[in-house]
Amino acid sequence: MTATAGATVAPSDEALRQEVVDWLRANLPQEWVEGIEEGDDDKLRRARALVDYSEWCATLGAAGWATPTWPKAYGGAGVDPSQAKVVNEELARYKVHRSFNVIGIGMGGPTLLQWGSEELKERLLPPMAQHKEIWCQLFSEPGAGSDVAGLATRAVRDGDEWIVDGQKVWTTLAHMATWGMLVARTDPDVPKHRGMTYFIVDMKAPGVEVRPLKQITGDAEFNEVFFTEVRIPDSHRVGEIGQGWAVATETLMNERVALSGAGSTGGGNVGGGPVDDLIAAAKALGAWNDATIRERLIQAAIEGRLVKITNFRAAAARKGGKRAGPEGSITKLFQAEYNQRLQNLAVDVLGARGMAWLPGDEGAAAAVRGFLRSRANTIEGGTSEVMRNILGDRVLGLPREPDVSRDVAWKDVPRSS
Ligand SMILES: Cc1cc2nc3c(=O)[nH]c(=O)nc-3n(C[C@H](O)[C@H](O)[C@H](O)COP(=O)(O)OP(=O)(O)OC[C@H]3O[C@@H](n4cnc5c(N)ncnc54)[C@H](O)[C@@H]3O)c2cc1C
Repeated sequence: MTATAGATVAPSDEALRQEVVDWLRANLPQEWVEGIEEGDDDKLRRARALVDYSEWCATLGAAGWATPTWPKAYGGAGVDPSQAKVVNEELARYKVHRSFNVIGIGMGGPTLLQWGSEELKERLLPPMAQHKEIWCQLFSEPGAGSDVAGLATRAVRDGDEWIVDGQKVWTTLAHMATWGMLVARTDPDVPKHRGMTYFIVDMKAPGVEVRPLKQITGDAEFNEVFFTEVRIPDSHRVGEIGQGWAVATETLMNERVALSGAGSTGGGNVGGGPVDDLIAAAKALGAWNDATIRERLIQAAIEGRLVKITNFRAAAARKGGKRAGPEGSITKLFQAEYNQRLQNLAVDVLGARGMAWLPGDEGAAAAVRGFLRSRANTIEGGTSEVMRNILGDRVLGLPREPDVSRDVAWKDVPRSS
Protein backbone atom coordinates (compact mmCIF):
# COMPACT_ATOMS: atom_id res chain seq x y z
CA MET A 1 0.00 0.00 0.00
CA THR A 2 1.24 3.51 -0.72
CA ALA A 3 0.00 6.67 0.94
CA THR A 4 -0.69 9.75 -1.18
CA ALA A 5 -1.98 12.95 0.40
CA GLY A 6 -3.45 11.02 3.30
CA ALA A 7 -5.27 8.50 1.06
CA THR A 8 -4.24 4.87 0.77
CA VAL A 9 -3.82 3.42 -2.70
CA ALA A 10 -3.73 -0.35 -3.08
CA PRO A 11 -1.34 -1.81 -5.65
CA SER A 12 -3.02 -3.40 -8.67
CA ASP A 13 -3.57 -7.15 -8.42
CA GLU A 14 -0.86 -7.83 -10.99
CA ALA A 15 1.66 -5.54 -9.28
CA LEU A 16 0.93 -7.25 -5.99
CA ARG A 17 1.23 -10.70 -7.57
CA GLN A 18 4.62 -9.73 -8.96
CA GLU A 19 5.69 -8.33 -5.58
CA VAL A 20 4.85 -11.65 -3.89
CA VAL A 21 6.59 -13.71 -6.58
CA ASP A 22 9.71 -11.50 -6.39
CA TRP A 23 9.72 -11.89 -2.63
CA LEU A 24 9.34 -15.67 -2.84
CA ARG A 25 12.14 -15.94 -5.40
CA ALA A 26 14.39 -13.88 -3.14
CA ASN A 27 13.55 -15.72 0.08
CA LEU A 28 12.91 -19.38 -0.80
CA PRO A 29 15.92 -21.65 -1.39
CA GLN A 30 16.88 -21.55 -5.06
CA GLU A 31 16.27 -25.28 -5.50
CA TRP A 32 12.71 -24.82 -4.19
CA VAL A 33 11.99 -22.03 -6.70
CA GLU A 34 13.46 -24.11 -9.52
CA GLY A 35 11.48 -27.16 -8.42
CA ILE A 36 8.25 -25.16 -8.74
CA GLU A 37 9.08 -23.23 -11.88
CA GLU A 38 10.50 -26.27 -13.72
CA GLY A 39 7.81 -28.65 -12.39
CA ASP A 40 10.57 -30.82 -10.89
CA ASP A 41 8.95 -32.55 -7.89
CA ASP A 42 12.14 -34.32 -6.78
CA LYS A 43 14.02 -31.05 -6.61
CA LEU A 44 11.18 -29.49 -4.64
CA ARG A 45 11.03 -32.42 -2.22
CA ARG A 46 14.79 -32.18 -1.60
CA ALA A 47 14.61 -28.43 -1.01
CA ARG A 48 11.61 -28.70 1.32
CA ALA A 49 13.36 -31.33 3.44
CA LEU A 50 16.23 -28.93 4.14
CA VAL A 51 14.14 -25.94 5.21
CA ASP A 52 13.80 -25.11 8.91
CA TYR A 53 10.03 -24.77 9.21
CA SER A 54 10.09 -22.41 12.21
CA GLU A 55 12.62 -20.12 10.59
CA TRP A 56 10.60 -20.08 7.40
CA CYS A 57 7.39 -19.17 9.28
CA ALA A 58 9.24 -16.25 10.90
CA THR A 59 10.56 -15.02 7.53
CA LEU A 60 7.11 -15.26 5.94
CA GLY A 61 5.56 -13.51 8.94
CA ALA A 62 8.13 -10.71 9.03
CA ALA A 63 7.20 -9.84 5.43
CA GLY A 64 3.51 -9.62 6.39
CA TRP A 65 2.51 -12.44 4.02
CA ALA A 66 1.34 -14.79 6.78
CA THR A 67 -1.39 -12.26 7.63
CA PRO A 68 -1.92 -10.28 4.41
CA THR A 69 -5.13 -8.49 5.43
CA TRP A 70 -3.91 -7.27 8.81
CA PRO A 71 -2.84 -3.63 9.00
CA LYS A 72 0.90 -3.11 8.65
CA ALA A 73 1.04 -1.65 12.16
CA TYR A 74 -0.05 -5.05 13.49
CA GLY A 75 2.34 -7.14 11.39
CA GLY A 76 0.21 -7.60 8.27
CA ALA A 77 0.67 -6.57 4.65
CA GLY A 78 -2.31 -4.19 4.71
CA VAL A 79 -4.01 -5.54 1.58
CA ASP A 80 -7.77 -5.89 1.24
CA PRO A 81 -9.46 -9.33 1.34
CA SER A 82 -9.73 -9.66 -2.45
CA GLN A 83 -6.02 -8.92 -2.80
CA ALA A 84 -5.22 -11.42 -0.05
CA LYS A 85 -6.56 -14.00 -2.49
CA VAL A 86 -3.81 -13.00 -4.94
CA VAL A 87 -1.19 -13.33 -2.19
CA ASN A 88 -2.53 -16.72 -1.13
CA GLU A 89 -2.67 -17.97 -4.71
CA GLU A 90 1.05 -17.30 -5.14
CA LEU A 91 1.94 -18.81 -1.76
CA ALA A 92 -0.04 -21.90 -2.77
CA ARG A 93 1.55 -22.01 -6.24
CA TYR A 94 5.00 -22.02 -4.64
CA LYS A 95 3.76 -24.69 -2.19
CA VAL A 96 4.67 -22.54 0.79
CA HIS A 97 3.86 -23.99 4.20
CA ARG A 98 1.41 -21.95 6.18
CA SER A 99 2.49 -20.97 9.66
CA PHE A 100 1.84 -23.58 12.33
CA ASN A 101 0.84 -20.67 14.57
CA VAL A 102 -2.55 -21.23 13.00
CA ILE A 103 -4.45 -20.95 16.27
CA GLY A 104 -3.00 -17.48 16.73
CA ILE A 105 -3.17 -16.27 13.16
CA GLY A 106 -6.39 -18.00 12.17
CA MET A 107 -8.36 -17.50 15.38
CA GLY A 108 -6.69 -15.25 17.97
CA GLY A 109 -5.75 -12.55 15.46
CA PRO A 110 -9.22 -12.03 13.98
CA THR A 111 -10.69 -12.06 17.51
CA LEU A 112 -8.26 -9.40 18.76
CA LEU A 113 -8.74 -7.28 15.63
CA GLN A 114 -12.48 -7.27 16.28
CA TRP A 115 -12.62 -7.12 20.08
CA GLY A 116 -9.17 -6.32 21.48
CA SER A 117 -8.04 -3.02 23.02
CA GLU A 118 -5.53 -0.96 21.05
CA GLU A 119 -2.89 -1.83 23.66
CA LEU A 120 -3.45 -5.58 23.21
CA LYS A 121 -3.46 -5.35 19.41
CA GLU A 122 -0.18 -3.43 19.33
CA ARG A 123 1.50 -5.71 21.85
CA LEU A 124 0.25 -9.11 20.69
CA LEU A 125 -0.46 -9.11 16.96
CA PRO A 126 3.01 -8.43 15.43
CA PRO A 127 4.83 -11.26 17.28
CA MET A 128 1.88 -13.54 16.50
CA ALA A 129 2.13 -12.81 12.77
CA GLN A 130 5.92 -13.12 12.88
CA HIS A 131 5.82 -16.51 14.57
CA LYS A 132 7.70 -15.21 17.60
CA GLU A 133 4.86 -16.08 19.99
CA ILE A 134 2.76 -19.21 19.57
CA TRP A 135 -0.87 -19.24 20.72
CA CYS A 136 -3.31 -21.80 22.03
CA GLN A 137 -7.07 -21.92 22.60
CA LEU A 138 -8.25 -22.71 26.13
CA PHE A 139 -11.96 -23.40 25.68
CA SER A 140 -12.73 -27.13 26.09
CA GLU A 141 -12.90 -28.68 29.55
CA PRO A 142 -13.48 -32.22 30.80
CA GLY A 143 -17.14 -31.29 31.42
CA ALA A 144 -17.63 -28.82 28.55
CA GLY A 145 -16.80 -29.67 24.93
CA SER A 146 -19.68 -29.39 22.48
CA ASP A 147 -21.55 -27.38 25.10
CA VAL A 148 -18.52 -25.19 25.80
CA ALA A 149 -20.79 -22.50 27.30
CA GLY A 150 -21.19 -24.81 30.30
CA LEU A 151 -17.51 -24.39 31.24
CA ALA A 152 -16.50 -24.31 34.90
CA THR A 153 -13.04 -22.67 35.06
CA ARG A 154 -13.52 -19.71 37.40
CA ALA A 155 -12.04 -16.21 37.20
CA VAL A 156 -12.56 -14.03 40.27
CA ARG A 157 -11.81 -10.30 40.29
CA ASP A 158 -9.09 -9.08 42.67
CA GLY A 159 -8.43 -5.36 42.18
CA ASP A 160 -6.80 -4.86 38.78
CA GLU A 161 -6.33 -8.59 38.34
CA TRP A 162 -8.32 -11.79 37.97
CA ILE A 163 -7.50 -15.05 39.75
CA VAL A 164 -8.14 -18.16 37.67
CA ASP A 165 -8.69 -21.73 38.90
CA GLY A 166 -9.77 -24.72 36.82
CA GLN A 167 -8.84 -27.15 34.08
CA LYS A 168 -8.85 -27.14 30.29
CA VAL A 169 -8.29 -30.10 28.00
CA TRP A 170 -7.38 -30.94 24.37
CA THR A 171 -5.38 -27.70 24.23
CA THR A 172 -3.42 -27.89 20.99
CA LEU A 173 0.10 -26.36 21.16
CA ALA A 174 -0.25 -25.40 24.85
CA HIS A 175 3.21 -26.91 25.42
CA MET A 176 4.73 -24.40 22.99
CA ALA A 177 2.45 -21.44 23.56
CA THR A 178 3.34 -18.03 24.96
CA TRP A 179 -0.30 -16.90 25.08
CA GLY A 180 -3.65 -18.61 25.46
CA MET A 181 -7.18 -17.48 24.65
CA LEU A 182 -9.05 -18.32 27.81
CA VAL A 183 -12.78 -18.28 28.44
CA ALA A 184 -13.64 -18.45 32.14
CA ARG A 185 -16.75 -18.18 34.29
CA THR A 186 -16.92 -14.83 36.01
CA ASP A 187 -20.56 -14.91 37.14
CA PRO A 188 -22.10 -18.27 38.13
CA ASP A 189 -25.39 -16.61 39.14
CA VAL A 190 -26.59 -15.92 35.60
CA PRO A 191 -27.40 -18.38 32.75
CA LYS A 192 -24.29 -19.97 31.26
CA HIS A 193 -23.94 -17.85 28.10
CA ARG A 194 -24.07 -14.59 30.07
CA GLY A 195 -21.58 -15.35 32.85
CA MET A 196 -18.32 -15.81 30.91
CA THR A 197 -15.42 -13.47 30.18
CA TYR A 198 -12.61 -13.77 27.64
CA PHE A 199 -8.96 -13.27 28.64
CA ILE A 200 -5.49 -13.57 27.17
CA VAL A 201 -3.39 -15.59 29.60
CA ASP A 202 0.39 -15.77 29.82
CA MET A 203 1.10 -19.50 29.52
CA LYS A 204 4.33 -19.12 31.49
CA ALA A 205 2.60 -17.42 34.46
CA PRO A 206 2.94 -19.07 37.90
CA GLY A 207 0.14 -21.60 38.45
CA VAL A 208 -0.19 -22.71 34.78
CA GLU A 209 0.65 -26.40 34.40
CA VAL A 210 0.68 -28.09 30.99
CA ARG A 211 0.55 -31.88 30.72
CA PRO A 212 0.87 -33.53 27.29
CA LEU A 213 -1.72 -35.99 25.96
CA LYS A 214 -0.51 -38.67 23.57
CA GLN A 215 -2.63 -39.31 20.49
CA ILE A 216 -3.31 -42.39 18.36
CA THR A 217 -0.61 -41.18 15.91
CA GLY A 218 2.00 -41.26 18.69
CA ASP A 219 2.32 -37.46 18.61
CA ALA A 220 1.39 -35.21 21.52
CA GLU A 221 -0.12 -32.17 19.77
CA PHE A 222 -2.51 -31.37 22.57
CA ASN A 223 -2.50 -31.13 26.35
CA GLU A 224 -4.34 -30.82 29.62
CA VAL A 225 -3.85 -27.38 31.20
CA PHE A 226 -4.36 -26.77 34.92
CA PHE A 227 -4.81 -23.31 36.45
CA THR A 228 -4.09 -22.81 40.13
CA GLU A 229 -4.52 -19.23 41.36
CA VAL A 230 -3.21 -17.84 38.09
CA ARG A 231 -3.24 -14.03 37.99
CA ILE A 232 -4.29 -12.21 34.81
CA PRO A 233 -4.22 -8.40 34.61
CA ASP A 234 -7.59 -6.87 33.78
CA SER A 235 -5.89 -5.16 30.81
CA HIS A 236 -5.71 -8.68 29.28
CA ARG A 237 -9.50 -8.97 29.23
CA VAL A 238 -10.97 -9.01 25.71
CA GLY A 239 -14.46 -7.50 25.49
CA GLU A 240 -16.61 -6.56 28.45
CA ILE A 241 -17.08 -8.61 31.61
CA GLY A 242 -19.81 -11.17 30.85
CA GLN A 243 -19.37 -10.77 27.08
CA GLY A 244 -17.12 -13.84 26.77
CA TRP A 245 -19.58 -15.88 24.73
CA ALA A 246 -19.81 -13.26 21.97
CA VAL A 247 -16.01 -12.96 21.81
CA ALA A 248 -15.58 -16.76 21.91
CA THR A 249 -18.07 -17.10 19.06
CA GLU A 250 -15.80 -14.89 16.93
CA THR A 251 -12.90 -17.26 17.68
CA LEU A 252 -14.99 -20.36 16.93
CA MET A 253 -16.34 -19.01 13.62
CA ASN A 254 -12.78 -18.25 12.52
CA GLU A 255 -11.65 -21.68 13.71
CA ARG A 256 -14.14 -23.30 11.35
CA VAL A 257 -12.87 -21.21 8.46
CA ALA A 258 -9.24 -22.06 9.34
CA LEU A 259 -9.99 -25.78 9.65
CA SER A 260 -12.06 -25.91 6.48
CA GLY A 261 -9.23 -24.62 4.34
CA ALA A 262 -10.81 -21.35 3.21
CA GLY A 263 -8.20 -19.40 5.12
CA SER A 264 -5.45 -21.75 4.15
CA THR A 265 -2.52 -20.67 2.05
CA GLY A 266 -1.61 -24.24 1.20
CA GLY A 267 -4.09 -24.79 -1.62
CA GLY A 268 -2.81 -28.35 -2.04
CA ASN A 269 -4.46 -29.39 1.21
CA VAL A 270 -7.93 -28.32 0.09
CA GLY A 271 -8.30 -30.75 -2.76
CA GLY A 272 -6.63 -31.11 -6.11
CA GLY A 273 -3.12 -31.93 -4.89
CA PRO A 274 -3.75 -34.92 -2.63
CA VAL A 275 -6.29 -36.50 -4.98
CA ASP A 276 -4.00 -36.13 -7.98
CA ASP A 277 -1.14 -37.66 -6.02
CA LEU A 278 -3.38 -40.49 -4.93
CA ILE A 279 -4.57 -41.20 -8.47
CA ALA A 280 -0.95 -41.29 -9.64
CA ALA A 281 -0.08 -43.69 -6.79
CA ALA A 282 -3.09 -45.90 -7.60
CA LYS A 283 -1.97 -46.14 -11.21
CA ALA A 284 1.60 -46.96 -10.22
CA LEU A 285 0.55 -49.59 -7.67
CA GLY A 286 -2.15 -51.24 -9.77
CA ALA A 287 -5.07 -50.28 -7.48
CA TRP A 288 -6.47 -48.24 -10.38
CA ASN A 289 -7.44 -51.55 -12.05
CA ASP A 290 -9.91 -52.20 -9.24
CA ALA A 291 -13.25 -50.72 -10.38
CA THR A 292 -14.38 -49.91 -6.83
CA ILE A 293 -11.17 -48.07 -5.96
CA ARG A 294 -11.35 -46.23 -9.29
CA GLU A 295 -14.91 -45.09 -8.55
CA ARG A 296 -13.90 -43.87 -5.07
CA LEU A 297 -10.93 -41.98 -6.52
CA ILE A 298 -13.14 -40.24 -9.06
CA GLN A 299 -15.67 -39.39 -6.35
CA ALA A 300 -12.80 -37.99 -4.24
CA ALA A 301 -11.63 -35.86 -7.17
CA ILE A 302 -15.15 -34.45 -7.55
CA GLU A 303 -15.50 -33.77 -3.83
CA GLY A 304 -12.06 -32.12 -3.71
CA ARG A 305 -13.25 -29.73 -6.41
CA LEU A 306 -16.47 -29.08 -4.45
CA VAL A 307 -14.49 -28.16 -1.33
CA LYS A 308 -12.38 -25.77 -3.37
CA ILE A 309 -15.37 -24.10 -5.02
CA THR A 310 -17.21 -23.74 -1.69
CA ASN A 311 -14.11 -22.15 -0.18
CA PHE A 312 -13.86 -19.75 -3.13
CA ARG A 313 -17.47 -18.76 -2.51
CA ALA A 314 -16.77 -18.16 1.18
CA ALA A 315 -13.67 -16.12 0.29
CA ALA A 316 -15.72 -14.08 -2.20
CA ALA A 317 -18.26 -13.33 0.53
CA ARG A 318 -15.45 -11.98 2.69
CA LYS A 319 -14.12 -9.75 -0.09
CA GLY A 320 -16.37 -6.99 1.10
CA GLY A 321 -14.96 -7.35 4.61
CA LYS A 322 -17.74 -9.72 5.78
CA ARG A 323 -16.77 -11.49 9.02
CA ALA A 324 -16.68 -15.26 9.36
CA GLY A 325 -20.26 -16.43 9.96
CA PRO A 326 -22.14 -19.67 10.72
CA GLU A 327 -21.86 -20.72 7.06
CA GLY A 328 -18.21 -21.61 7.88
CA SER A 329 -19.78 -24.77 9.34
CA ILE A 330 -20.63 -25.96 5.80
CA THR A 331 -17.00 -26.25 4.74
CA LYS A 332 -15.83 -27.41 8.18
CA LEU A 333 -18.37 -30.27 8.07
CA PHE A 334 -17.72 -31.23 4.47
CA GLN A 335 -13.92 -30.88 4.60
CA ALA A 336 -13.69 -33.02 7.77
CA GLU A 337 -15.75 -35.89 6.36
CA TYR A 338 -14.16 -35.58 2.92
CA ASN A 339 -10.65 -35.78 4.38
CA GLN A 340 -11.56 -38.93 6.28
CA ARG A 341 -12.85 -40.56 3.08
CA LEU A 342 -9.66 -39.47 1.30
CA GLN A 343 -7.35 -40.85 3.98
CA ASN A 344 -9.28 -44.15 4.11
CA LEU A 345 -8.86 -44.37 0.37
CA ALA A 346 -5.12 -43.65 0.57
CA VAL A 347 -4.65 -46.61 2.91
CA ASP A 348 -6.82 -48.86 0.71
CA VAL A 349 -4.79 -47.91 -2.36
CA LEU A 350 -1.67 -49.17 -0.56
CA GLY A 351 -3.25 -52.57 0.03
CA ALA A 352 -1.28 -54.71 2.50
CA ARG A 353 1.34 -51.93 2.86
CA GLY A 354 -1.41 -49.88 4.53
CA MET A 355 -1.37 -52.36 7.42
CA ALA A 356 2.31 -53.30 7.74
CA TRP A 357 5.25 -51.73 5.99
CA LEU A 358 8.99 -52.15 5.82
CA PRO A 359 11.29 -49.77 7.71
CA GLY A 360 12.07 -46.76 5.53
CA ASP A 361 8.79 -46.94 3.56
CA GLU A 362 8.02 -43.27 4.21
CA GLY A 363 5.06 -43.24 1.80
CA ALA A 364 3.19 -45.96 3.69
CA ALA A 365 4.08 -44.48 7.09
CA ALA A 366 2.79 -41.05 6.03
CA ALA A 367 -0.45 -42.48 4.61
CA VAL A 368 -1.18 -44.43 7.79
CA ARG A 369 -0.35 -41.41 9.94
CA GLY A 370 -2.75 -39.33 7.81
CA PHE A 371 -5.44 -41.99 8.22
CA LEU A 372 -5.04 -42.03 12.01
CA ARG A 373 -4.83 -38.22 12.35
CA SER A 374 -7.95 -37.72 10.25
CA ARG A 375 -10.08 -39.45 12.93
CA ALA A 376 -9.90 -36.14 14.80
CA ASN A 377 -11.21 -34.08 11.87
CA THR A 378 -14.86 -34.66 12.74
CA ILE A 379 -14.23 -33.74 16.42
CA GLU A 380 -11.76 -30.82 16.51
CA GLY A 381 -13.25 -27.36 16.06
CA GLY A 382 -16.72 -28.73 16.86
CA THR A 383 -18.04 -32.18 15.98
CA SER A 384 -19.91 -32.94 12.78
CA GLU A 385 -23.13 -33.39 14.78
CA VAL A 386 -22.68 -29.92 16.26
CA MET A 387 -21.93 -28.46 12.80
CA ARG A 388 -25.23 -29.92 11.58
CA ASN A 389 -27.03 -28.34 14.54
CA ILE A 390 -25.48 -24.94 13.76
CA LEU A 391 -26.40 -25.21 10.09
CA GLY A 392 -29.96 -26.20 10.92
CA ASP A 393 -30.42 -23.45 13.45
CA ARG A 394 -28.30 -20.51 12.20
CA VAL A 395 -28.20 -21.02 8.43
CA LEU A 396 -31.43 -22.85 7.55
CA GLY A 397 -33.52 -21.18 10.27
CA LEU A 398 -34.90 -24.45 11.64
CA PRO A 399 -36.15 -24.53 15.25
CA ARG A 400 -33.31 -24.35 17.77
CA GLU A 401 -32.26 -27.55 19.53
CA PRO A 402 -33.90 -27.74 23.01
CA ASP A 403 -31.50 -26.84 25.84
CA VAL A 404 -33.06 -27.07 29.29
CA SER A 405 -30.09 -25.31 30.91
CA ARG A 406 -30.13 -22.24 28.64
CA ASP A 407 -32.13 -19.96 30.96
CA VAL A 408 -31.09 -21.44 34.31
CA ALA A 409 -28.39 -19.79 36.48
CA TRP A 410 -25.15 -21.70 35.74
CA LYS A 411 -24.67 -22.63 39.42
CA ASP A 412 -28.08 -24.37 39.46
CA VAL A 413 -27.46 -26.55 36.37
CA PRO A 414 -26.80 -30.19 37.39
CA ARG A 415 -23.33 -31.34 36.28
CA SER A 416 -21.07 -34.28 36.94
CA SER A 417 -17.82 -32.34 37.34
C1 LIG B 1 -7.25 -32.92 17.60
C2 LIG B 1 -8.07 -32.07 18.50
C3 LIG B 1 -7.61 -30.82 18.85
C4 LIG B 1 -8.36 -30.01 19.70
N1 LIG B 1 -7.85 -28.79 20.05
C5 LIG B 1 -8.53 -28.00 20.91
C6 LIG B 1 -7.97 -26.77 21.35
O1 LIG B 1 -6.88 -26.38 20.95
N2 LIG B 1 -8.66 -26.03 22.25
C7 LIG B 1 -9.88 -26.42 22.72
O2 LIG B 1 -10.47 -25.68 23.51
N3 LIG B 1 -10.44 -27.61 22.34
C8 LIG B 1 -9.78 -28.40 21.45
N4 LIG B 1 -10.32 -29.62 21.06
C9 LIG B 1 -11.56 -30.06 21.68
C10 LIG B 1 -12.76 -30.08 20.76
O3 LIG B 1 -13.22 -28.78 20.51
C11 LIG B 1 -13.81 -30.95 21.44
O4 LIG B 1 -13.30 -32.27 21.50
C12 LIG B 1 -15.12 -30.95 20.71
O5 LIG B 1 -15.74 -29.70 20.78
C13 LIG B 1 -16.09 -32.02 21.27
O6 LIG B 1 -16.18 -31.94 22.65
P1 LIG B 1 -16.00 -33.25 23.57
O7 LIG B 1 -14.74 -33.92 23.14
O8 LIG B 1 -16.13 -32.83 24.98
O9 LIG B 1 -17.19 -34.21 23.16
P2 LIG B 1 -18.76 -34.14 23.68
O10 LIG B 1 -19.16 -32.73 23.64
O11 LIG B 1 -18.75 -34.83 25.01
O12 LIG B 1 -19.44 -34.97 22.59
C14 LIG B 1 -19.51 -36.41 22.61
C15 LIG B 1 -20.39 -36.86 21.44
O13 LIG B 1 -21.73 -36.34 21.62
C16 LIG B 1 -22.13 -35.61 20.46
N5 LIG B 1 -22.93 -34.45 20.85
C17 LIG B 1 -22.67 -33.58 21.86
N6 LIG B 1 -23.62 -32.63 21.91
C18 LIG B 1 -24.50 -32.90 20.90
C19 LIG B 1 -25.69 -32.27 20.44
N7 LIG B 1 -26.17 -31.18 21.03
N8 LIG B 1 -26.33 -32.81 19.38
C20 LIG B 1 -25.85 -33.94 18.77
N9 LIG B 1 -24.73 -34.59 19.18
C21 LIG B 1 -24.06 -34.07 20.22
C22 LIG B 1 -20.83 -35.15 19.81
O14 LIG B 1 -21.01 -34.90 18.43
C23 LIG B 1 -19.91 -36.34 20.09
O15 LIG B 1 -20.12 -37.34 19.12
C24 LIG B 1 -9.60 -30.45 20.20
C25 LIG B 1 -10.07 -31.72 19.84
C26 LIG B 1 -9.32 -32.53 19.01
C27 LIG B 1 -9.85 -33.88 18.64
